Amino acid sequence: MKEDLIWALAFDYPRLYIGTRRRYESASFQGITCGDGWEPIVRWLSAALERLIEIEPKDEQEFYRCIEVRERYGGLEFYMNDATDEMTKLVKIATSESFKVCEFCGQPGVLRQDGRRGAKTLCEGCRGKVVVLPLAMSAPVPHF
Ligand SMILES: [Zn+2]
Repeated sequence: MKEDLIWALAFDYPRLYIGTRRRYESASFQGITCGDGWEPIVRWLSAALERLIEIEPKDEQEFYRCIEVRERYGGLEFYMNDATDEMTKLVKIATSESFKVCEFCGQPGVLRQDGRRGAKTLCEGCRGKVVVLPLAMSAPVPHF
C-alpha cells in the first residue's frame, strides 16, 4: 500500500497503529503490504477496531495494536498483537469482504487462481495486468 495511505491510517487510528510510533521487543509493526484497492476495507476495519480499543482499560490498549496487514491466499490478512472476540469477528468480516474487492483497484473482484501470482482477488481489468506492488522493504518503518 502507498506510504501516504499507510500514514493516514496511522494518523487517524493512533491506538491501533501505535506500533508505527513505538518500539516493542516482540510483535513490532511490520507494515501494510496489500494493494491500495483494499484501503477502504482496511480503513473501515481500523475505525471499528479503534473504537473497541478505546473502551478497553488504558493500560491494556497497547495489547490490541496492529502488527501487519497483507494479502494471503487472495484475501486480506490483518494481524494484531492481541484481539478480543469482537475484534476477531470484525477482522473476519473484513477478510471475507476482501474476497469481493479487487486488491489493486478497489472495483468488484473475484478470487482468481489462474495467474502466475497464485490466488489473487482481482477485477476483470486487473486480471493479468502487471501491477507492481511496493516491496515489503519500502513499507514505512517506525521512526524514533
Ligand atoms: Zn482491478
